[in-house]
Amino acid sequence: MTETLTAPESAFETAQAQLRKVADLLSLDPGLTEILAHPRRELTVHFPVRMDDGQTRVFTGYRVQHNDARGPVKGGLRYSARVSLDEVRALAMWMTWKCAVVNLPYGGAKGGVVVDPRSLSEGELERLTRRYATEISILLGPDRDIPAPDMGTDARIMAWIMDTYSMHHGHSVPGVVTGKPAGIGGSRGRVEATGRGALYVTQEACRQRGLDLRGATVAIQGFGNVGGVAARLLSQAGARVVAVSDSRGGVYSDAGLDVESLHAHRAAGGLLAEHPLAHEDITNAELLELPVDILVPAAIEGQVTESNAPRIRAGMVVEAANGPTTAAGDAVLAERDVYVVPDILANAGGVIVSYFEWVQDLQSFFWEESEVNQRLQRIISAAFAEVSAVAQQRGLRLREAAYVVALQRVVEAIRLRGIYP
Ligand code: NAD
Repeated sequence: MTETLTAPESAFETAQAQLRKVADLLSLDPGLTEILAHPRRELTVHFPVRMDDGQTRVFTGYRVQHNDARGPVKGGLRYSARVSLDEVRALAMWMTWKCAVVNLPYGGAKGGVVVDPRSLSEGELERLTRRYATEISILLGPDRDIPAPDMGTDARIMAWIMDTYSMHHGHSVPGVVTGKPAGIGGSRGRVEATGRGALYVTQEACRQRGLDLRGATVAIQGFGNVGGVAARLLSQAGARVVAVSDSRGGVYSDAGLDVESLHAHRAAGGLLAEHPLAHEDITNAELLELPVDILVPAAIEGQVTESNAPRIRAGMVVEAANGPTTAAGDAVLAERDVYVVPDILANAGGVIVSYFEWVQDLQSFFWEESEVNQRLQRIISAAFAEVSAVAQQRGLRLREAAYVVALQRVVEAIRLRGIYP
């Protein structure tokens, strides 16, 4: 079944509303709040690509740098037909908070190209990527701005960007992007890092709530890099994954889904909804409202809104996607006392291992996967503990507490550096 989901509130409006709420809570200087409410730099590029049929098409791309007070900026690249400057701004701001909440020495950025990557041939995708990388290369560099994969992009695309940047500089610069293949400076464990981080925070959240993850029921929206890995790891950890979905809809089985068989089915080109073991097809809207212990939105933003939040039956929401809950939807969840692990914490595993990759590239010294995973668990669990402690001390929900931790770090950096000139 095909369906279209829309985000009623703009992503940047959600991001700004979240910022202002916590700025008020911290009685932040209005000037500082204004600095943080705006991205530092925004680049829009329109660039031609020669298509396989000989025609030339012009594409639009963006790179937004939100704030670099704490270090070089970091953030993924999204290829999607629905990418907009508004969305990229929001995602860039969230990257600033995400890097700060887990205490990485980075600021936040994000980029995107308005394109459905599945509509291009491999050659077209490579030419588009190399030209886009060239257009935004005035911003990039291992000590300036370091992209990574996001929706619609992958390790192969990161390899083309690394090669393009390296060609311009006359030597190999692996540290300019993360999420590369291991053979050219990628980190072990990077592909699974976001889903793995989501597993670790879910384990911490279950401990906090006295919920046994073994046997807990889980519904996951999105079966890509994040949702697919989260489904596998949560299932391996003993959770009962009863529903998963992709953009076309999903599958549901009260007895629990065989996640490995879903991966095999999808790898063979099948649609999730057509999986032979699926007891029932399910729409994305229905998945969000299932009576499960844990809901993991791992697809796109703006999915839990004012209109469906009253019907969310999960007691815990782990936001593996960026911005899956609108500000208005979140207010309803808060009122209903739903325990939400916010995106900037729940999906920080990706940028944490991206940081490890960058560190390994700069040192040309590479780690075993077990070391990567252990360090990831240490950092994300420590961040969870810190955010939980702030939540308890101040009587806040985890989202506000995560913002308090993040904002305080960014504001401290701005204060220490001073306002130039
Ligand atoms: P992906 O492209 O690998 O997968 C996205 C999944 O969402 C696919 O299964 C797709 O079919 C599904 N989807 C797309 N549109 C949908 C819709 N309208 N309704 C329901 N499902 C839909 O992307 P990803 O890397 O897994 O990213 C998913 C989310 O996680 C995004 O919000 C992204 O920003 C966030 N995120 C990703 C990373 C990372 O390392 N990849 C890190 C942090 C956050």
